[in-house]
Amino acid sequence: MTEVTAPLSWDEYFMLQAMMASFRSKDPSTKVGSVFVDSDNHQISMGYNGFIAGIDESKLPWTKDLESGLENTKYGYVVHAEANAILHAPRSLTGSVCYVTLFPCNECAKLIASKKVSEIVFLSDKHQDKEHTRMAKRIFDLTEVKYRQMEVTPTLLEKLQQHLGSLLHDVNCGGIK
Ligand SMILES: [Zn+2]
Repeated sequence: MTEVTAPLSWDEYFMLQAMMASFRSKDPSTKVGSVFVDSDNHQISMGYNGFIAGIDESKLPWTKDLESGLENTKYGYVVHAEANAILHAPRSLTGSVCYVTLFPCNECAKLIASKKVSEIVFLSDKHQDKEHTRMAKRIFDLTEVKYRQMEVTPTLLEKLQQHLGSLLHDVNCGGIK
């Protein structure tokens, strides 16, 4: 008998969820998404980077140019993906796993470690040489929050594309008028 396996692992599933969350971000330069998952593989919370929920976004800047002063850049006002997910979590995050598309900064690391999250699974580590990443790793090492990088392979994206294609095919054959 052939073994029946899921077309994607839990790691792949939740990283795709984090990628979908990042798709919601309005930040023109860096879009980050995160999801927190419990030990039963149930999603607890999700978040993406953006201004405070409900705020008049037209009155805030997206610029990154720090020469004009922090108050005139996005850095003064954006809530990071992990922080948003933590703020909106309906229950405890103790022992959870955080899937995130970019390695957390030190500010988010403080929140993640305080919430007793057990592990970070991240996609990109593009800021690994920056101070805020080194501080985040120091926080995680001291608080025993594990972290590991995961790869999203082109094969997974091909499988996803095929799957979405067949779903849409079913919809179209179902007689959209
Ligand atoms: Zn952060």
